[in-house]
Amino acid sequence: MADSASDADITRILRSAGCVFAESEAALLIDGFTGSDLDDAVARRVDGTPLEQILGWAEFCGLRIFVEPGVFVPRRRTELLVHRAAVTSPRIVVDMCCGSGAVATALAHRLTGVQVHASDIDPVAVRCARRNVEPVGGRVYEGDLYEALPEDLRGTVDVIVANAPYVPTDAIGSMPSEARDHEPAVALDGGVDGLDLHRRIASNAPGWLAPGGTLLIETSRRQSEDTAGIFASHGFDTDIVCSDDLDGTVVVGIRMSDG
Ligand code: GLN
Repeated sequence: MADSASDADITRILRSAGCVFAESEAALLIDGFTGSDLDDAVARRVDGTPLEQILGWAEFCGLRIFVEPGVFVPRRRTELLVHRAAVTSPRIVVDMCCGSGAVATALAHRLTGVQVHASDIDPVAVRCARRNVEPVGGRVYEGDLYEALPEDLRGTVDVIVANAPYVPTDAIGSMPSEARDHEPAVALDGGVDGLDLHRRIASNAPGWLAPGGTLLIETSRRQSEDTAGIFASHGFDTDIVCSDDLDGTVVVGIRMSDG
């Protein structure tokens, strides 16, 4: 492109590249970039890079969450985790497999006095999450699930939330290119049946939750009975919550007291 393309040109380019929301995407790119940077941004979008990774932010629970290349883009459906976690008015929250830290950040915004901890195994995600979570007073740790957390949180956590990877390995190939080619496999791949991380998170959660504490894991509607079965097998009082509006499904487990 010799000169920067006009709004209508950009909309047309994005539409023919298959962007469903070409007009609003064009407006956001025009708002965020000028000149050759705008041309580059349009070219990256045409190439399948998620819009949010190009803009550097995603809207989540009404907030702008920083998103970087190679980091899982927060989905609207994951707002259900935030809504469900907030109703329990927790004092201490852990956002496990936090990616950009969207859930932790939204909870820190919504709940006064909450102590927010977030962790992820991927150093790229951890760096991005720190940009989101630290300014709202939370802490981010790098490591494999509970190994990342400070020991003194054991037995004290009111809510553990997780949007852990739950895509069955064989289904990754049929995800849209935005996910398949631009989000890390470690954020998507949940093993053969997609539930490896759900098993690992649920089996260790009772040791970290306070009595009566809650474990909340996003899953798909199709996998929800299996995720709920995993919770139940670890002694949780278990429920499945769905939102048609958000197209989201969350399994809720309450840690029964040890009696
Ligand atoms: N299919 C899911 C989504 O796009 C994948 C999320 C995940 O594995 N955490 O929302």
